[in-house]
Amino acid sequence: LTTGLESAWSKLKGEETLTKENIVEPMRDIRRALLEADVSLPVVRRFVQAVSDQAVGTGLIRGVKPDQQMVKIVHDELVKLMGGEVSELVFSKSGPTVILLAGLQGVGKTTVCAKLAYYLKKLGKSCMLIAGDVYRPAAIDQLVILGQQVEVPVYSAGTDIKPAEIARKGLQEAKRQNIDVVIMDTAGRLQIDKTMMDELKEVKRELNPTEVLLVVDAMTGQEAAALVTTFNLEIGITGAILTKLDGDSRGGAALSVKEVSGKPIKLVGRGERLEDLEPFYPDRMAGRILGMGDVLSFVEKASEVMRQEDAEELQKKIMSAKFDFNDFLKQTRAVARMGSMTRVIGMIPGMGKVTPAQVREAEKSLMVMEAIIEAMTPEEREQPELLAESPTRRKRVAQDSGKTEQQVSQLVAQLFQMRVKMKNLMGMMQGGSIPALSN
Ligand code: GDP
Ligand code: MG
Repeated sequence: LTTGLESAWSKLKGEETLTKENIVEPMRDIRRALLEADVSLPVVRRFVQAVSDQAVGTGLIRGVKPDQQMVKIVHDELVKLMGGEVSELVFSKSGPTVILLAGLQGVGKTTVCAKLAYYLKKLGKSCMLIAGDVYRPAAIDQLVILGQQVEVPVYSAGTDIKPAEIARKGLQEAKRQNIDVVIMDTAGRLQIDKTMMDELKEVKRELNPTEVLLVVDAMTGQEAAALVTTFNLEIGITGAILTKLDGDSRGGAALSVKEVSGKPIKLVGRGERLEDLEPFYPDRMAGRILGMGDVLSFVEKASEVMRQEDAEELQKKIMSAKFDFNDFLKQTRAVARMGSMTRVIGMIPGMGKVTPAQVREAEKSLMVMEAIIEAMTPEEREQPELLAESPTRRKRVAQDSGKTEQQVSQLVAQLFQMRVKMKNLMGMMQGGSIPALSN
């Protein structure tokens, strides 16, 4: 998907603006990329339409190239397509929260039971699992063993009893024990069939669940759309859990769920271990799909290395164009601490690929920068204008740092350029797409 989209951006390189004509080719690439990623056709159609409307309807932001702006538009539409915000699990206000899991066989329902219990325990909730897969005795054993691993009680009543009856008794037991969250595992089939749906409906009636979560294997691809639609129509779901995102899925399922059902993906499973369950972040997923994940994680990492307040402070300064030499120093040091300059430079949008020689060059100029900034007075660091206006000051700094006046002038000019660049970059990436800075 990422490669297909890159081809779309490349067709906009060198264009002055976005027009109805010059987006035709890139839109075709985007459409193809989505279809190849197993997104279902109706979803692709609506998506492409939305992006085209945006692309020709929005004016260019100054300093942002058309291809960059296109990335941004596609990013935002992807985020929207996947539901925008993170959708939290809903908890019942009175009595236990009941989560009913549904889905085809082998998608990871039983595993999700344990993962969810593990996840919720960390949030300080007590949990109980109910073994509702009465078709395979092994399924009950599997859940019991998982329950022991997570240290949560498992309610089971064998296989000679209807799932709805198990649900009723299990819930009673959970109430008696004052459990916060009850998670019910159910049987899946290889295909959707009437018996499965009827059984689920009965269980749902019995439990009156807070959440009905459809567990979907991320590898499902195109069929995910039909699957989600049917389950939603038949039993009514409140959301989905996408599993096996660690495999080589093409991303189609993630993009279809919300659009076809109106229900969000709430959690994703990324592995077989208990801790491999996490909230679904539409913006991060979009970033990953666009291959802009690097840009996002660059900003995230940078702000991890700097302290959080520093990051917020920095963002404010960038926005108000008050970015000064202290910030410059702090940031370059943070970047240096992040290790490999190659990776960091590669992550900065617009910098493209770098050679080892360029990296050595960059590292050298970092050291020159540090020396020059250290030779500045506190006022000069906070007000770069002082240096811009006074050759005498620049001369003094040059002498104290052992660098040339030209090098000092260059650094001052660079700071002002950087103010402009960063402002543009922030403008381009705004809209909740940088979680680490915006929260
Ligand atoms: P169920 O039939 O829906 O209950 O599916 P299970 O919970 O028994 O899982 C079926 C298989 O998928 C098991 O081997 C799990 O270990 C595996 N599995 C479940 N979730 C994930 C996941 O997120 N990633 C990977 N790689 N495997 C998973
Ligand atoms: Mg199972």
